[in-house]
Amino acid sequence: MTSQSIQQLIEAFQRLPGVGPKTAERYAFYLVRTGNDEITGILDALNKVRASIVQCTQCFNFAEVSPCEICSSPKRDKTIVCVVSHSADVVALEKTGSFNGVYHILGGTLNAIEGVRPEHLKIKELAARARQGIAKELIIALNADMEGETTSLYLVKLLQPLGIRLTRLARGLPMGSDIQYADELTLANALQDRKTLSEG
Ligand SMILES: [Zn+2]
Repeated sequence: MTSQSIQQLIEAFQRLPGVGPKTAERYAFYLVRTGNDEITGILDALNKVRASIVQCTQCFNFAEVSPCEICSSPKRDKTIVCVVSHSADVVALEKTGSFNGVYHILGGTLNAIEGVRPEHLKIKELAARARQGIAKELIIALNADMEGETTSLYLVKLLQPLGIRLTRLARGLPMGSDIQYADELTLANALQDRKTLSEG
């Protein structure tokens, strides 16, 4: 019988994406076994994130300041906006070193089964951004899965009348693949060879 506090820790880990019961148990017992130093290190990191991370009011990425470093950089091209679902996708695209525009993080993708509707994502904010007239091109860079496709279609329908150029990543990415796990070269190529959805 596991003690109540360890059980609580296992359950907390299990709520993390991609962590099943076995892994959650392994994490919990690892921490219990290694003791205070390891636990303090993790607590410090968590507290720091809680105290210092804000959401950028322009791109909705998580950052230490708002507007974030990317949005406020004079070196970034504000006329090209790459639309992604999560912050982790920004990390992946930045690693390619081949994108010099700015981002817009939707905060997820449309998903009828899980009840994710347009109002749950930063879609209204994206349309408002497109209407400002600074952005000339929106690159829709969503995962090549059903939710990504559904969201792309929705965005094209919504944004097409605004007369802005809409593109999408080239299909170098295998179907069902996550942008955040794609290798840098594949992702750089997908950006380079992006396809036009609407000339704007
Ligand atoms: Zn930003």
